[in-house]
Amino acid sequence: MEQNIGHAIILGCGCSKGTPQIGNEWGACDPLEPKNFRTRPSIAIQKNGKTLIIDTGPDFHMQINRENIRHIDGVLYTHAHSDHVAGIDELRSFFDRTRKRVPVLSDEKTLNELRQRFSFVFEQSSVLYAAAAEAHILQNNLQSFAGIDFTPFTQDHGLSTTLGFRFGDFGYSTDMITLDDHAIGVLNGVENWLVDGANLYEERIFVHSNLKRILELQEKVQAKNIYLTHLKNNLDYQTLCRDLPIFIRPAFDGQKIQIKWGQNAG
Ligand SMILES: [Zn+2]
Repeated sequence: MEQNIGHAIILGCGCSKGTPQIGNEWGACDPLEPKNFRTRPSIAIQKNGKTLIIDTGPDFHMQINRENIRHIDGVLYTHAHSDHVAGIDELRSFFDRTRKRVPVLSDEKTLNELRQRFSFVFEQSSVLYAAAAEAHILQNNLQSFAGIDFTPFTQDHGLSTTLGFRFGDFGYSTDMITLDDHAIGVLNGVENWLVDGANLYEERIFVHSNLKRILELQEKVQAKNIYLTHLKNNLDYQTLCRDLPIFIRPAFDGQKIQIKWGQNAG
C-alpha cells in the first residue's frame, strides 16, 4: 500500500571543503567524534521505494555506496556551485544499470550551466559515451516526481540564487543567506528544517546565513526542529550540541529524518 511517509537521509552536511579538509585539517572538530566527519552537502529523499537525490557533490560516489542506494529516480539541483555538482558524471553508473537517462531537475539557469560545463553528461559525445542524464526545468510550485510531492522555492545566496525545497513536513534550505516572504510561506510550519549553518557564529555574512539570521527566519517559519548543514570545520559537533538551543541540532552524515506528507504538510 502507498504510504504518505518517507524520510530524508543526510548524505553530506559538510561545507564546500568537507571535514577533515585536505591535509587532514580538522580545525576545531574533534577527530575522535565520528559525527564530525562531514562530506559535501547532499540529501536523499525516499518514499515508497523511490529515491530522489538533491545535489551530487564531489563525495557523491562514496555517499551513495555508504547508504547502499542502488537505484535513483531523479536528481534535483539546488544550484551549480562545484560542491553541489562536481560528482554529476557518476550518474553514468546509474544509466549503465538501467540504460535509462537519469532525470535531472532544476531551474533554467542551473540547467544551462550544467549543460555547458558537463555537456558530455547530457549529450552523446561518442559512440562509446552515451548521454547519461536528461534535463527538466522545475517550476516553483507544488509538483510530483516519481510519486514524491515537493515544492521548490528560490533562495537568496548572496551573489546568486539557489533552490530550496519542501517535501511534506520537511524543509531543505542549504546555501542561503536569507529567505523572502514567498520562501518563508512555503516553509511555514514544517516539522523539520535543514538549514545552512556555514557561517553560524560569524557576524558579517555574504552568502551563508548565521545563527542570528536563522533565529530571525525561524520566528516566521516556525519549524519544530532545526538541523544545521553545510557545516565548516570550526563547528565541532558536541560543542554545538552543548551551546545551541535544544530545538537546533547539528546534522550528521548518515542521519535519517522522517517525513510525513499530508493535507497541510505541503
Ligand atoms: Zn555549497
